Amino acid sequence: MPEPLLVLDGIVKRYDDHTAVHRLDLDIAAGEFIALMGPSGCGKTTTLRMIAGLETPSEGEIRLRGRRMNEVKPWERDTPLVWQSLALFPFMSVLKNVEFGLKMRDVVGPERTRRAMSWLERLGIAKYRDRKIDQLSGGERQRVALARALVTEPEILLLDEPLSALDAHLVIRMQAELKQLQQQLGITFCYVTHSQSEAFAMADRVAIMAEGRLQQVGPPREVYRAPANRFVAEFVGANNILSGRIVSLAKGLAAVDTPFGTLQAKADQACQAGDPVAVVVSADRVTVSDGKAEGENALAGTVISEEFVGAFVTLHVDIGEDKSFRAQLQQHALEPLGAVRGKRLTLRWKPEHTVILKNK
Ligand code: ATP
Repeated sequence: MPEPLLVLDGIVKRYDDHTAVHRLDLDIAAGEFIALMGPSGCGKTTTLRMIAGLETPSEGEIRLRGRRMNEVKPWERDTPLVWQSLALFPFMSVLKNVEFGLKMRDVVGPERTRRAMSWLERLGIAKYRDRKIDQLSGGERQRVALARALVTEPEILLLDEPLSALDAHLVIRMQAELKQLQQQLGITFCYVTHSQSEAFAMADRVAIMAEGRLQQVGPPREVYRAPANRFVAEFVGANNILSGRIVSLAKGLAAVDTPFGTLQAKADQACQAGDPVAVVVSADRVTVSDGKAEGENALAGTVISEEFVGAFVTLHVDIGEDKSFRAQLQQHALEPLGAVRGKRLTLRWKPEHTVILKNK
């Protein structure tokens, strides 16, 4: 099988006595949109900078089409980086900014202008060709930065939180534009973000990092529905995590003894009776009623608060033992319950909608 386009093979990055990235293994396929995500300081930017050649790995190897890249200078790589501050030249026109990348590659005169103009047209900013950068809006600047990176027709475009300086409305529009552009061009995008919604909206796969280590890599749906460990379950989505111990196993289900009673959970990992585990239930898998908390996976609780997210509402429910449980429901499903603060409700979910995590 041919090697993937980009391979990060056991890369480590140390700064003095601090290890920012620990033995990271990641393969990125040609044409893929991959998002590196994780909390602040987890090593996302350091990883991207190593791919761009702005940092050298302390250990391990980066290969692009099978070629070792560790010692290749950034300007000799085919991996431009677009970042939040965009680093455009304010004193140059839009056209000159975009031509800059080609100038560095000795593309001359009319050919340079022709190629730059074709990218300005593609990104819908050709009419601003003679404007200075500070005469543009945030979204227009963003497109100039993209045009400047894409004009050299790179194999991989690296993007470091490129939308974080834009307002929320524009972020949503630019996400759709970026995804469309990536699909049309077939270029590999490697995108760093701390935002789950941004990563999930655009990426084919997300790679989640914490404290310099890769936690899980997979399509957004898989990472959302089947978090690999507690960190991912807490970082992604709106998961409820209940700790307990397996008391018995039968027909692919585990009975888990918890401070909230015995819960039934899907046992798709190699589990044994006696194992300490966490049962993960996504907030959008929970139903709410005002009936009695009887039968399988039914917990009684008291409404603490509700949080509006447009058509959806997240209910925060006190289930005792100092634990707040979240249920995400459509607004119209909640209305008949009159779920005001202090109201007693019953929360329910199906065993097949749970994930069991073994406590390490
Ligand atoms: P953010 O979302 O805040 O940008 P990040 O996940 O991109 O965070 P990195 O910038 O990769 O994080 O930093 C990872 C760790 O390495 C941090 O603890 C940071 O302080 C440290 N670090 C980064 N660059 C250097 C440097 N040049 N010298 C020393 N430590 C560094």
